[in-house]
Amino acid sequence: MLSVEEAREKVLSAVSVLEAAETPLLEALGMTLAEDAVAREDIPPFDNSAMDGYAVRSEDVAGAREGSPAELEVLGDLAAGHAPEVALRAGQALRIMTGAPVPEGCDAVVPVELTRGEGGRVLILEAVEKGANLRRAGEDVKSGETVMAAGTAIGPAELGMLASLGYARPRCFRRAVVGIISTGDELVGVEEELAPGKIRDSNSYTVFGMVHEAGAQPLRLGVVRDDADLLERTILDNLEKVDLFVTSGGVSVGDYDMVKDVLGKVGEMNFWKVAMRPGKPQAFGHVRGKPLFGLPGNPVSVMVSFEQFVRPAILKMMGRRDIFRPQATAILDAPLGRKAGRTEFIRVVAEWRDGRYHVRPTGPQGSGILKSMVLGNALAVLPEEVGRLEAGAEVVIQFLR
Ligand code: AMP
Ligand code: MG
Repeated sequence: MLSVEEAREKVLSAVSVLEAAETPLLEALGMTLAEDAVAREDIPPFDNSAMDGYAVRSEDVAGAREGSPAELEVLGDLAAGHAPEVALRAGQALRIMTGAPVPEGCDAVVPVELTRGEGGRVLILEAVEKGANLRRAGEDVKSGETVMAAGTAIGPAELGMLASLGYARPRCFRRAVVGIISTGDELVGVEEELAPGKIRDSNSYTVFGMVHEAGAQPLRLGVVRDDADLLERTILDNLEKVDLFVTSGGVSVGDYDMVKDVLGKVGEMNFWKVAMRPGKPQAFGHVRGKPLFGLPGNPVSVMVSFEQFVRPAILKMMGRRDIFRPQATAILDAPLGRKAGRTEFIRVVAEWRDGRYHVRPTGPQGSGILKSMVLGNALAVLPEEVGRLEAGAEVVIQFLR
């Protein structure tokens, strides 16, 4: 049996990064940058006003007070999107809106609340420092600066930054296409009626969700009966379309070892047992160069194994620099009885309290209790050698959301 770390290393060394291509900006959301994003100009490109008010020369308003305002001549109005056509000379001001470029000679903006306009003149009721309420050219990003390195995940902030930088088609690593197969004679579809001995297929939905959340493209290939030939055909028929396969079920001993049989016959198997709970039996290998993760059938095992092995593998394939979930240490609020020997992943509710994370189990921890994944927001990782844990013990947690 492999340890979780050994299995993870094997998986990660057995998958390679997909190719990169120029990608329309909106499609890049959830993908990974394959190039450094470098600024070709300053952002903002010009000094501009941070407030609606009056562009002034700070020395002109140095002594201004409510009882003794400075009076300035107003040269006109300037809205955002327009360039100033005047320069300020002594005793002059320009009414200016947020985001509009400040005129030459201006070194501060007086917010409109501190002024009183009177025809072509304005009374300044308070002095402002040099530089007040100005946004300087390049204060966000300097021309030539590398703002985001290759390997950065593109989320909302990165998407906006790429737009600011003028990257209409950033080079991104291709989205991995993940073929999803559920196996089992007992499975019916979500729209079908249950019959004696039947349950609804949930795994292809949880896997779809996890693949999607990882920024990859899920492709549901349906439910396959417990028939090795059918499974083999489904895999071989879809080889061209997918970058990796995720199957669920059919890897435990009582299950005719269907997935292992197929891997042994038309592919090659790297391992099939990991010292973890849930999720001990699981197959990993390749079929004609495409990685295949044979996850166990139990709904929680599927999700926990996906988190430990498939998600990091997908992120590596998609060029991601950070491929693991954020971790923290947390205080256990309730004792946990358990048998040492395997790494155990307890579904917990993690809460920030009194300056620390605290965790409590979600309830029953069976590998069929999918509700534990609905209720939990983290996995507590109990190392192989650790037995019973008392309340107050420290545990490592992986955040799931
Ligand atoms: P297996 O690994 O195929 O022996 O399946 C283990 C358990 O997981 C059995 O109770 C199955 O009924 C259940 N199971 C397998 N596949 C699914 C699925 N796609 N959705 C929900 N439960 C499943
Ligand atoms: Mg089965």
